Amino acid sequence: MSLLSVVVPCFNEEETVQLFYDAVTPVLEKLPQEYELIFVNDGSRDHTLALLQELYQSHQDTIRVIDFSRNFGKESALLAGLRAAQGDYVIVMDADLQDPPQLIPKMFETMEAHDDDVVGTRRVTREGEPKIRSFFARQFYRLINRWTEVEIVDGARDFRLMKRPVVDAILSLQEYGRFSKGLFAWVGFRCEYLEYENVKRAAGETKWSFWKLFRYAIDGIVEFTSAPAVLAARAGIPLTAVMLVVLIVELILALCGRAVTFEALLLSVILFLAGLILSAIGILGEYLSKTYNETKKRPSYIIRKFYH
Ligand code: UDP
Ligand code: MG
Repeated sequence: MSLLSVVVPCFNEEETVQLFYDAVTPVLEKLPQEYELIFVNDGSRDHTLALLQELYQSHQDTIRVIDFSRNFGKESALLAGLRAAQGDYVIVMDADLQDPPQLIPKMFETMEAHDDDVVGTRRVTREGEPKIRSFFARQFYRLINRWTEVEIVDGARDFRLMKRPVVDAILSLQEYGRFSKGLFAWVGFRCEYLEYENVKRAAGETKWSFWKLFRYAIDGIVEFTSAPAVLAARAGIPLTAVMLVVLIVELILALCGRAVTFEALLLSVILFLAGLILSAIGILGEYLSKTYNETKKRPSYIIRKFYH
């Protein structure tokens, strides 16, 4: 009989862990596959671990818990969960029931019907989300799709069903900075998306502040393309050339005793170039810091204890 592993990252999810378990297990029980639930406690500061331990005590045959030594972030939690997963099929889903468990049987059906390797999900609405957040999210998808070789579907969730070869492919990618949405897209395979309307969190609060999300978007772009660096050079070089011509012309005019606004122009040119240089340095810094992180070869996470 085949095995399905369900990987669930949890960070301060004391309010949702039990709700999640109660909602998801009836669905899993009905599947023809056997299942294991792998919870990754990502350094929660509330009672999440205690609740997970309780679940583990009462369902040792189906539950496994990976306890991190601190909060390493969702990406690291996903990685640890995928590494621990033994299933022929693996599902990744959030603990807050924003990924509807009722979709799971449909995911399997779609996978079988179309011989897919991956069935992903995407939200077609962003209802209940701050407008500004939706706006930036949309811009993020536009940018990343224009600049990178990978295609990331707008509204794609991490909630997905994968066959073993896909999981192995993702695990074979060695990089430290793991932008899952990008990695999932990068490995390719036959993939299909199920669409659904946005669901609100069952309880608790989102773990992503606007700035954390912003940082995440920058990381995603930098990890998947060097386009921003090229862009800076592309804009910077012609601009410098044009400005040089402008300056020479101004100089000639000045020598002829004209060009009264020279200082003003010079000042704006200097300021503009200074801004350009600063942004170019900033972009270089991004790449440098990524390279630095990769060369350190640090593990993505430290496990305090593995209950299995
Ligand atoms: N999460 C995590 N580590 C973190 C932040 C989040 O493991 O540092 C988990 C969280 O417990 C949840 C999932 O990632 O299961 C998605 O988080 P959340 O629901 O807060 O994100 P949103 O749905 O608001 O994008
Ligand atoms: Mg959520």
